[in-house]
Amino acid sequence: MAVKQQAPLTVRVTCLLIFLLLQTCRTLAEDLKWDENGYVLYCPCMGRFGNQADHFLGSLAFAKMLNRTLAVPPWIVYRHHTPPYTNVHVPYSEFFRLESLSAYHRVVSLEDFMEKLAPEHWPSGQRRAYCFETAAQRSADKKSCPMKDGNPFGPFWDNVHVDFDQSVLFGGISFSAYHQPQWIKKFPPSEHPVLAMPGAPAQFPVTEEHVGLQRYVVWSDKMVSKGEEHISNLLIRPYVSIHLRIGSDWQNACKMLKTGDAGPHFMASPQCVGYNRQTALSLTMNMCLPDLAEIRRAVKLWVKKTSARSVYIATDSESHSRDIEKLFKGKVKVVTLQPDSAQLDLYISGRADHFIGNCVSSFSAFVKRERDVHGLPSSFFGMDKPGKINQKEEL
Ligand code: GDP
Ligand code: MN
Repeated sequence: MAVKQQAPLTVRVTCLLIFLLLQTCRTLAEDLKWDENGYVLYCPCMGRFGNQADHFLGSLAFAKMLNRTLAVPPWIVYRHHTPPYTNVHVPYSEFFRLESLSAYHRVVSLEDFMEKLAPEHWPSGQRRAYCFETAAQRSADKKSCPMKDGNPFGPFWDNVHVDFDQSVLFGGISFSAYHQPQWIKKFPPSEHPVLAMPGAPAQFPVTEEHVGLQRYVVWSDKMVSKGEEHISNLLIRPYVSIHLRIGSDWQNACKMLKTGDAGPHFMASPQCVGYNRQTALSLTMNMCLPDLAEIRRAVKLWVKKTSARSVYIATDSESHSRDIEKLFKGKVKVVTLQPDSAQLDLYISGRADHFIGNCVSSFSAFVKRERDVHGLPSSFFGMDKPGKINQKEEL
């Protein structure tokens, strides 16, 4: 009688491991499988990096709410003053790890979606745009979504070679969780596999419930090594980082406070005055546009409190580095990057021992959210303890 020979246990386990490894490699590299639950596509067509990041968090939540895969768009970088003088579309993964988003929800980069999935599943000729009726009102026939009208809309979709063939309009519905059932009922994925929209399906600024999604926005390895290199070459810990949002566009925006046209909620300000309109603290001029006296006061306070040995200045225009150096009589190293890079400024500020941001700026808000995720302390100009207004500052 023949006895069936079994492979030794170690061989079997090894084979199983190799099999599993191969399976994993296959799903990671080769076939992007079409998601029958559908997709959400959008253009991050409002504002620069900070605004786009706020909108990204809301859009990620929206895709999850509808159980659709999010096609993660590239960042739109405006290059009006430096070559190539047009918009640059920077893949999400240049700055952040796409994989880290997967811990929250299914994503694919818009570029991969277009290259690997669209030819078969979303071919040209069948590309529908989805927008609010009110948005379509602006079109010539009052029935077309303004997907590619003007900048940055046209260049964004051109960059991925998309033209739209039809428009689907909706109204009486918002992107909040309250309307989830309506979305699902109106647009089942079987009939509406790809929801492509002219703007982010999200609010600006990011809503309180989605602030925490920042934890899934993780810097790419390339950014980490560049950022860490700068920190170790230029800065001495502990260091305080400050964000100066004081350029001419901002001076104009903050004028709204003087005329009383803005309440406490003005752009990114809920991050420091609080999200609840009833209980929001008042927004002072120093919180929007700190003057040199306030910049000096806050820097001095936090350098002292943290025994900082250097100060990093991220700025949209002037750095005031001389004035800040003078405060410490050469005992504290003052650093600002030339030429400036928005993402390096964000990275370095995110890693500081203390950060002083601008309450109204969504650029600052990105840093604040990231620091909150890691339990690092932040304050704002005009508000040393976020959530509690400075006694002296009270209007
Ligand atoms: P917000 O306008 O402050 O809410 O933030 P946005 O990010 O939407 O727009 C401001 C833009 O100005 C940024 O995206 C940057 O391009 C530029 N900017 C503002 N502050 C800084 C900074 O500290 N460093 C650098 N490099 N750029 C900045
Ligand atoms: Mn802006």
